[in-house]
Amino acid sequence: MRKLEAIIEHADQQCKQNGARLTAKRKQILSGLLQSDKALSAYELIDYCKTQHGETIPAMSVYRILDFLESQHLVHRLNLANKYVACAHITGQHEHAASQFVICRQCQRVKEIDINDSVVQTLQQDVRDAGFELDGQQLEINGLCESCVKSSA
Ligand SMILES: [Zn+2]
Ligand SMILES: [Zn+2]
Repeated sequence: MRKLEAIIEHADQQCKQNGARLTAKRKQILSGLLQSDKALSAYELIDYCKTQHGETIPAMSVYRILDFLESQHLVHRLNLANKYVACAHITGQHEHAASQFVICRQCQRVKEIDINDSVVQTLQQDVRDAGFELDGQQLEINGLCESCVKSSA
């Protein structure tokens, strides 16, 4: 748990630098995401707060907290699943522009990965050639994680 505390502390400092405040409830939601290797929906986070902290936070507030955490670059929203993950670069110094994720279709485990810029640009060009525009630079790729590959073998 020490590592979790250190990450929260780091996030707290980062918010302060931006003139924002990581309140107790915001910390709770962020901890829930940090402790999960899966993306969580707002409702799963409500359950987490109830079972882990005995607190009932209304959905509206959870969404507001998630918006806040997203604006502070601490979490990402997965568009396809409408779920949230803690940023893998949360303790890094710089905010990153693009985010790419691989999502296990079996157990929903999520990992934030760095795809080479040139690959993203090529993809963008191909999408444009097809007459589409990519939504931002966030990519969400479905797959099977290592342990699901092993268990299905
Ligand atoms: Zn990130
Ligand atoms: Zn899996």
